[in-house]
Order: sequence, then C-alpha cells, then structure tokens
Amino acid sequence: MPEQNNTEVHDLRSAIECLRAIPGQLVETDTEVDPDSELAGVYRHVGAGGTVRRPTRKGGPAMIFNNVKGFSDYRVAIGMLGSRERVGALLGYDPRRLGFLLKDSVRNPIAPITTQTENAPCQEVVHRADDLDFDLRTLLPAPTNTPEDAGPYVTMGMCYASDPESGESDITIHRLCVQSRDELSMWLTPGRHIDAFRQKAEAAGKSLPISISIGVDPAIEMAACFEPPTTPLGFDELSIAGALRQRPVELVECLTIRERAIAHAEVVIEGELLPGVRVREDQNTDTGKAMPEFPGYTGEAKAELPVIKVKAITHRRNPILQTTIGPGEEHVNMAGVPTEASILDMVGRAMPGVLLNVFAHSAGGGKFLAILQINKARAVDEGRQRQAALLAFSAFPELKTVVLVDEDVDIFDSDDVLWAMQTRYQGDVDTIFIPGVRCHPLDPSQTPEFSPSIREVGTSCKTIFDCTVPFRLKSQFKRSVFREVEVARFLPDFK
Ligand code: MN
Repeated sequence: MPEQNNTEVHDLRSAIECLRAIPGQLVETDTEVDPDSELAGVYRHVGAGGTVRRPTRKGGPAMIFNNVKGFSDYRVAIGMLGSRERVGALLGYDPRRLGFLLKDSVRNPIAPITTQTENAPCQEVVHRADDLDFDLRTLLPAPTNTPEDAGPYVTMGMCYASDPESGESDITIHRLCVQSRDELSMWLTPGRHIDAFRQKAEAAGKSLPISISIGVDPAIEMAACFEPPTTPLGFDELSIAGALRQRPVELVECLTIRERAIAHAEVVIEGELLPGVRVREDQNTDTGKAMPEFPGYTGEAKAELPVIKVKAITHRRNPILQTTIGPGEEHVNMAGVPTEASILDMVGRAMPGVLLNVFAHSAGGGKFLAILQINKARAVDEGRQRQAALLAFSAFPELKTVVLVDEDVDIFDSDDVLWAMQTRYQGDVDTIFIPGVRCHPLDPSQTPEFSPSIREVGTSCKTIFDCTVPFRLKSQFKRSVFREVEVARFLPDFK
C-alpha cells in the first residue's frame, strides 16, 4: 500500500465515495429503520466489532441507512472508521503504520483557516431555535443506541470551543444527549480541554459558545481524539487534520454564536454551555443508564451534567447524520491510533530504534491495552523494553496494560501475541505491577470492592506483561523457518 496522504477526501461525502470504490467497505439499505435502538441493533451485526457483546463482526463495512423513520430528508451513516483497513484507505496509508502517520502529522501541523459563508455547505439550510417549531427531537435523527439508553445521543459531534482568555481552540468528541427541544447534556471526562474552557467561563459567570459539527472528513475525527501530553491545552487538533490532508481545515463563522464550525460538515449545532446549570442525564427516561461506552458496558447516567442551550441547527441539503456505536471497532481506531502515535513519539524520542511499532488493541477500546513490538539489537537493550512500557504509560495516561513482544511477533494478530505469552513469558518474573495509578474512569474494575489494593475509585493497577526473550537467550528462540516459494505458481489467484 502506498504511503501517500489521501488528499482527495475533504468531507463525509468524498469519504463515502472513496469507500464506494473499494469492494466490501460500504453497504446501503433503503429499508426503513427506526433510529430508536433499531439502527444500532442492525449495525451491531453488520460491523461494530470492538468490545461489543458477541455476536458482532470485526472488519465489517460502513453502512448507510437511506430511509430513516420520521426523518425523510436525512440519511444516517455509521461505522465509517470501523475497520483499520478502511481508515488506511481514507487516509491513504498502510493500516499497520497509521500511528506513524499521525505522529508525523502532530509534528507538522497545518492550522485551520476561516472561509466565507458562501463556501460553507454546512449552512445551506438554517433552523433557528427562536422559531416556535424548532425541536432537536424532530430536526435531528440522533439514534438511541439501546432500549435502556437515557435518550437519543449525538455520538460523532466534533465539539469546538475556545479559551475565553487566550482564544485558543480545541476540538473533542463528547457524548451529547438530547434533553429537550433546545437542550443537550454534555459529559466531559475530567481533564478534557473544553471542560477547562467551560470552567473558566463559568467562574466568570459567562456561557461558553460551542459548535458541534457532525459528518465531517474522517481525518478530523481521528485528530479530535488526541489527548495531552501529545496535544497540550491550547493545541488545536484541527491542525493535525490539516497535516493529514496537506491543506488547512476550513472553518466558518457560526450564525448565532461567536464560534466557528467545520464548513464542510453535514450538520452543525450552534449553542452555549450555560454557567451554573446542570441536568440529570436520564431525566426523561429514568433508566439510570447513559449509552454504550467504549469498554463495552453502558455508562451510568450522570446526576449533574453541563447543559448546551442550542441556538440553531444548520445543515446541508439532504444531510447525512453520522453516528457510531460507542464500543465498536470505530472507537478502537479513533482513540487507538492517536494513542499509538503518542507512544511512538515519546518512546522514539527517548530511545530511538527500540520500539518498532505499537497496536492500541481492540480489547481495550484503543485506550486500555497496547502491544509494543520491541527490537533488542544489542545486549544493552535488555531492560529497555520495560523502560518503553513505562514511557508508554506516560505518553498516554489512560493506558492500563502493556504487552511487550519481540520483532518477530505480529502485534496485529492476537494469536501471535498470545503465542509469545505462552513461550516467552514466565508469570512470576515477567509481570510488573504498578498499583494505585489513575486510569480511565470508565473501567468498571477500578473499585475498592473489586480489589483490596484500590483505595480510590478510578485508580488502577497498571500492568506490564514482558513477553520478550532475554537478549542473551535470543539464539534459542528462533521460530521455524520455511522455504520461500512462489505460491501463485500453484494458485494463480492467491493473495
Ligand atoms: Mn485538546
């Protein structure tokens, strides 16, 4: 596969056309689908993968629903980034080396620019919230993913806001639940940058303008998932998307708030995070649940969440609402490839040549589990694999487990990784525990009830599984070598 940035794709529609040209990457249906739990129920079987309860399918196609019950002008797209091969095609890069592509993109950012309204298809149609018939619930086919969810969610909204003091901007994806005709609740995981902006505005008694762009260039969706320290507070992740496409992301001034939105989005929600206002996430359903989250469990409804007062929805003619299944392979790619890029960058700077590649594994939703492929070239490299693991925990604080393997193990093949654990690992000497470290709040095992070593909810025992051969024993661990042959001489169609 050529390693050349795909510069053809610049919005959701060109991304769909890119996938349409590749066999097996896109399916469509004209059968009417109910966005209330049916749509996600279908896609769970077609292609969700990831941490979704089985049966589901890893590597299935993206899907477009052309006939959405109650929303005649909308189509819904799901699973656009739901396979690593697809992400590779959309970015024009070897799927196994996407972490390197994103690492290089962070190092060579291209800042977004602001374009004129007439160049912004996202504002072709405008619905203002002061119209009496304005209602998020009938204007937007936001799916309810399971019958026990708190309500319909915007799951692929690129939330864009700016620091009230410095003016620096940030883009992140957050779970947004439709609460009323003009309100969304927003869950901001602690430490997220837009939350820092929101807290500053709230402390000054002011609202924070926020735009939510839905249905955009997949490069933006990947870039939005970077986290500190790779992208510190004040780093606009849109500049990573600019690097991926070798041209700046185009923004447009919103119509009702002082913020910008992605000009080529399908749909934009304009609104304000209100100071001092909180809402119970499941106030309309009392289910106690939120929506399926990336670890594979349905998140609990939060008691007090910030509220976005919506001012307007703008969209293209015949818009496509993009959505995702939270625990699917799509999350693995969106969260995981930036995780890989962060680890490659930090370990590469500290110890060049030691870390060959890394995979933020599907079982951890792209966040909890990383497989590191290590090259021990000299005797002094012994022990550097464990240093690489420690650096990985620093590069991505939400990482929980690191598995270290040698250069002859395929990190994308779990059978091969588990093979290394069977033949190159002894539990009592090759397992390293680092207890009492803060991880991601959505890991349900991080409670004092679960483990006596956990004193605070949200802290965890980080673990390194060192499945590499000690350098001095390497000669005894050569895998069987088969003769190189030309298979096509026997099977002409063999790939
Ligand atoms: Mn950020």
